[in-house]
Amino acid sequence: MGLAIVTGGSRGIGAAIAEKLAARGHDIVISCASSVDKAAAVAEKCRAHGVKVVAKQWDVADYAACEAAMKEIKEELGVPSILVNNAGITRDGLLVRMKPDQFEAVISTNLKGTFNMLQLVGAMMMRAKAGSIVNLSSVVGISGNAGQANYSASKAGVIGLTKSAAKELGARGVRVNAVAPGFIESDMTDVLPEEVKNGMLSQIAMKRCGRPEEIANIVAFLASDEASYITGQVIVADGGMI
Ligand code: NAP
Repeated sequence: MGLAIVTGGSRGIGAAIAEKLAARGHDIVISCASSVDKAAAVAEKCRAHGVKVVAKQWDVADYAACEAAMKEIKEELGVPSILVNNAGITRDGLLVRMKPDQFEAVISTNLKGTFNMLQLVGAMMMRAKAGSIVNLSSVVGISGNAGQANYSASKAGVIGLTKSAAKELGARGVRVNAVAPGFIESDMTDVLPEEVKNGMLSQIAMKRCGRPEEIANIVAFLASDEASYITGQVIVADGGMI
């Protein structure tokens, strides 16, 4: 079935994606920034599906670290057929009070981190003339959100990156798509104040948060041959929020 790399697979949506792809028979590399124990626990669950799983720690914002990780992965497991750029962070705050380092941290991880992995793995896939890349954007990259200028900009950037990469890599048999989730249950949304959560819920047609597995299902579809003529697309999964 081939190798799938899931960045930020130690928790939340990334963990659900890793488990879903393992259940479909893919060998898996799970990356994390610091929660090595959590990544190891997700790896154990994935192994229950009888596939090879490696959990690795590296910072996706650091190009040299991505390069070193990809060199090791290629030597150990071969060229990946799937890359899921899922690692992401928030550093929320109103625009007028946002510190430059809050802006830079979010852009570095969410947008530059996606670029780093897309370039390194995209080049390998181009040589192999096959591959599918799925990037995690967000509905706020389309709609904007008060208090998330940095995060919204990073996720809008991921959409531009996805569409451009799709045009560059398509002729070499590599597809690049994005998923734009709405409000999904995870550590990222768990920390939001109750009134913010209730405000978001009131805007959702389906009146509930999404589950990580519901995003994993779309990622698995886009990554698979079932989506063999889909590239450069952004699939919104927000329960009717925007
Ligand atoms: P989460 O629970 O906070 O998990 C984030 C994951 O990213 C963790 O595995 C974390 O590793 C990893 N990570 C963070 N910074 C990293 C770095 N510099 N290098 C490598 N890994 C890094 O987030 P989530 O809610 O599952 O979100 C996953 C993705 O979906 C993100 O891109 C997010 O922006 C997007 N998204 C989420 C929602 C939502 O409502 N939850 C909505 C729209 C889009 P550690 O565990 O080591 O920290």
